[in-house]
Formats: sequence, C-alpha cells, structure tokens
Amino acid sequence: MIRHPEQFAAQLAEVRAFVQTECRPLEQEIDRTDEIPEPLVERMRTIGLFGHSIPEAYGGAGLTSEELSLVNIEVSQVATTIRARFGGNTGIASESLVVDGTEAQKRKYLPQLASGAVTGCFALTEPEAGSDATAQKTVAVRDGDDYVITGTKCYITNAPLANLFTVFARTDPAAKGAAGISAFLIERGTPGLSTPPAYRKMGQHGSPVGEVVLERCRVPASAIVGGEPGQGFKTAMKALNKQRINLAGLCIGPAIRLVEEMVARAQSRRQFGQAIGEFQLVQQMIAESNVEVHAARALLLETARKRDDGIDVTMEASMCKLFASEMCGRVADRAVQVFGGGGYIADNVAERFYRDVRLFRLYEGTSQIHLINIAKRTMALASRSEARP
Ligand SMILES: Cc1cc2nc3c(=O)[nH]c(=O)nc-3n(C[C@H](O)[C@H](O)[C@H](O)COP(=O)(O)OP(=O)(O)OC[C@H]3O[C@@H](n4cnc5c(N)ncnc54)[C@H](O)[C@@H]3O)c2cc1C
Repeated sequence: MIRHPEQFAAQLAEVRAFVQTECRPLEQEIDRTDEIPEPLVERMRTIGLFGHSIPEAYGGAGLTSEELSLVNIEVSQVATTIRARFGGNTGIASESLVVDGTEAQKRKYLPQLASGAVTGCFALTEPEAGSDATAQKTVAVRDGDDYVITGTKCYITNAPLANLFTVFARTDPAAKGAAGISAFLIERGTPGLSTPPAYRKMGQHGSPVGEVVLERCRVPASAIVGGEPGQGFKTAMKALNKQRINLAGLCIGPAIRLVEEMVARAQSRRQFGQAIGEFQLVQQMIAESNVEVHAARALLLETARKRDDGIDVTMEASMCKLFASEMCGRVADRAVQVFGGGGYIADNVAERFYRDVRLFRLYEGTSQIHLINIAKRTMALASRSEARP
C-alpha cells in the first residue's frame, strides 16, 4: 500500500539521489577500509533512514510494507553494507519493540532508534543455537526485581557499535524449545555486557558483526520486551517475519545494479572484433538475470501488499527471502562471468557484490530452513486449498 503516492515518490527520489550520488562514490573505499565514514552516517540520520519502519507516533516515517520494500530496493543498489548501518534500526533491531514493546519501552527507545542517535541490534544466535534458535543456552535468572543474564551471542550485526541490545534468554529453565524464552532490552554500559572486536569476514566490509557476552548482567524485570516473560520467541518470529520481506528487497537492489553493470560491461568490452554483448551466450546471462529480478520484485511487492492488507504472509515471506536471496546469488555469479577474469580481481564491482551477497542465503533463516518452512506450510494448507497462488 502506498498511502500518498506523490509524497512517497519525492521520498523515494531523495533516497535514490543519496544512494547514487553520495554513497556510490564511496563504495570501494568502504570495502577497503572496512569502515563507513561518520559524515555519511550523519547524512543517513538527516534524511531519516534510521526510522523508516518505526511508527510516526515515535518519530519514524511509519512506512507500509510496500513502501519499505521499494525503499529497500533503492538503498541496496550500492554496497550492501551501507544499508546494514541503519538497517537494524529500521528493521530487526526495532521491530521487537514495535510489535510487542510496552508503551513505556516504545516511548523510551523508539524515538532514539528512529533518529539514529542510538544504534540497535538483535541478539538471538548463539554458538549452539543457529538454525535451531529455540536451543537458547543464555539464561536469565530471577533475583528479586531483577534478572541476572549469562551467556554468549554470536554473529550479531552491529554488536560492536550498538548502544541498545535486544537479547534473547531462557527465563524458565524447565520449559523446552520456544517456551520460556524472553527478550530483554539492554543498554550498552550495563555491567556484565561486553562486545569483543568485530570478526573479519568474507564481505560486507564496513558492517561490523561480533559477539555479545553476558556475564552475570543484571537488568530490571521491566527490561523484558512487553513486560511478560516467556513471550520472547514469539516476538522474535514476528520481527523475523517482517525482516524476511525487508531482506528480499535488499537482495533485489544488488541484482538490479549487477544487471546494469553486466550490460555496461557487455557493451564496452570487445573480443573477436565485436562487443561481447553481441554474443548470444552473454546475452543469455543478462536476460536470465533480468527475468529473475522482475520475478523476485513481483513476488515481493505482492507479498508486501498482502501484508499491508492484514493477510498472514508467513509462508510468502519465506518464499520472498528464499527466492530473492538465491536469485541474487545467481545474478552475482553471472556478473562475475560477464566480467571475465576481471570479475575475480579485487576492487571489481562484481567481485565485491559476489562476496557481499553471499550472506543473504545464510542469515535470517538459511535457504534450507526456508525450504522446510515453505514445505510444511504448503502441505498443511493444501488440504484447505489455501496454498494455491
Ligand atoms: C554476517 C552475519 C550476520 C548475522 N547477523 C545476525 C544478527 O544480527 N542477529 C542474530 O541473531 N543472528 C545473526 N546472524 C546469524 C545467522 O542468522 C545464523 O548464522 C544462521 O541462522 C545460521 O545458523 P548457523 O550459522 O548456526 O548455521 P547452522 O544452523 O549450523 O547451519 C549449518 C548448515 O546446516 C543446515 N541446516 C541446519 N538445520 C537444518 C535442517 N533442519 N534441515 C536442513 N538443513 C539444516 C543449514 O541450512 C546450513 O546449511 C548473522 C550471521 C552472519 C554470518
């Protein structure tokens, strides 16, 4: 749903101009230095990128799913790490609060997340709890009016620079699986919470990812998202469901960019006395990529519109994430091929995106986990004929 088409078109144009004219010239430097320049982060704050998905009542733009999807497609046409800087705040790091936070929690934190004054992160994964996120080992033990939290979270985006952590921990040791898990809001500076230096990684340089270590970290019971223990896993799933739609948009942007780059290269590079774009086998790589971009975009926008209409899109969100992330991987692979040997050399645009987009098939549910989800839901719904498109 696009609420005010003219107003939204202007908003989207502003985002596009920022991305294409201010971010794009810095992509390579960010990849090399593994750092996003602070003035660029300040510009992200100025144009409201941190708060796109946060409701207007709390200082954000309150974009609908369709609007947010279109913005995500724009912002991800440059180095994906740029979006990762503000993406937590306008996605997974604020969504738990948006969907399940108490009014007091929302008033305290959402305006700061929306402005970008505070950077949030979402700390669910643990060394022994990856695809099976219900296997949480982090424990939160009640002690008077407080909880004392102990455990380690790994692979957490923005952990090294975050000021606000949504940490999932088991509050009921007797409960199994998804039951007995609670989400806590923990501020940096709370004794017992620390973040070791960021990992070195394959791509997405400039987006720090690291551990969150909790050593007898004491927080008040009021830090539980929604105030009621045991609801954390449901909260996490609600946040992830929306995030999967976001992520599909973030896979489509790079694929659009790479099709553009492939076309430019195919037109300028000459072999056998002609532009390589005149060879039909090269054209095939471009055509297949462009078809897949269009298919992913259509699936995403249809799903986003359904979500805006209040329809349960749990299965479709999984389909969007699975299809768009796999599609983006295939497009990046073809882009390297079109660039030839140059596509394998550092600082080449295809080489960089190839490394960056590999992550999309791993986080927020691996492709295998989404396939399992989709299969289960398809079979469950089949008897009611609801799985039909
Ligand atoms: C750069 C980066 C950033 C991240 N950011 C965050 C973040 O901000 N917050 C957060 O909480 N987490 C984050 N993650 C963690 C991410 O969500 C997990 O890595 C992911 O869920 C996979 O878990 P795992 O790494 O433990 O892999 P595993 O679960 O060990 O999976 C390994 C392989 O086994 C397969 N597999 C597992 N179970 C099954 C099954 N039942 N059937 C078939 N195949 C299966 C998987 O698909 C995969 O191929 C991030 C990860 C990375 C790399």
